[in-house]
Amino acid sequence: MTEVAPIIAAGGELVVASGNAGKVAELQKLFTPLAVTLRLQSELKVVPAEETGTSFVENALLKARAAAQQTGLPALADDSGLAVDALDGAPGVRSARYGADGGFAADDEGNNSRLLQALRDVPDAQRSARFHCVLVLMRHGDDPAPLIAEGRWEGRILDSARGDGGFGYDPLFFVPERQCSAAELSREDKNQLSHRGMASRRLLELLQSA
Ligand code: IMP
Repeated sequence: MTEVAPIIAAGGELVVASGNAGKVAELQKLFTPLAVTLRLQSELKVVPAEETGTSFVENALLKARAAAQQTGLPALADDSGLAVDALDGAPGVRSARYGADGGFAADDEGNNSRLLQALRDVPDAQRSARFHCVLVLMRHGDDPAPLIAEGRWEGRILDSARGDGGFGYDPLFFVPERQCSAAELSREDKNQLSHRGMASRRLLELLQSA
C-alpha cells in the first residue's frame, strides 16, 4: 500500500461529490492506492452544490465544499468537461448540459448530437479538442487550503460515434496516440491516458508530499 495520510487515514472514508456513475467507477480504480472507502454523496443524502462557476476549478471547489460540509467527511470532487477549439472552448463547464441547452435530449446522446451538429461544417484539421479535469480534495468543509490537481487530454472530435465503452463524449473523442476513440479503450488504457487519470496521479503525489 502506498503511504499517504495524514490527510486521510488508511481505512477512513472519503465522500465523492459526484452523481456520475462513469466518473465514480474511474475514480474508484484510480484511488485504489489510498486504501480508503469512497462513499457516494447520493448514499449520504448530500444535496449537490449548484455548479455556478465559470471554470472547472470553481465548480470542483463548490462541489467538494458542499459534500464535506454536509457529511463531516473529507471530500473529493471532480469537475471535468470537453473544450473544442473551433467552438471557442465550448461545451466547457456546460459539458454535462450541452445537449439540453441546445434543445437536444438531456443525456450523453443529446450532448453528442449537439456537438456533431455544431461541428458539421468544420474540417478534420480544425476539430482539435481536449478534456479537462480538476480534482479537489478538502479535508473538511472549511478547509482553507484544499489540494487541487489538474489534467488534460488532447484529441480531436470525430464525425461519427465509435465504440461503446466509457461515457459522455468518449465515442466522439479521437485519441491520436491509439488511433481510436476513447470509447474503444479499455478502462485501464483510458485511465492511463486520460485527463482524470493524470489529475488523479497528481493528486496522489500531492497527498504523498502533504
Ligand atoms: P460535470 O459532472 O459537471 O463535471 O460534467 C462533466 C461532463 O463532461 C460529463 O457529463 C461528460 O459529458 C463530460 N466528460 C467529463 N469527463 C469525460 C470523459 O472522461 N469522457 C467523456 N466525457 C466526459
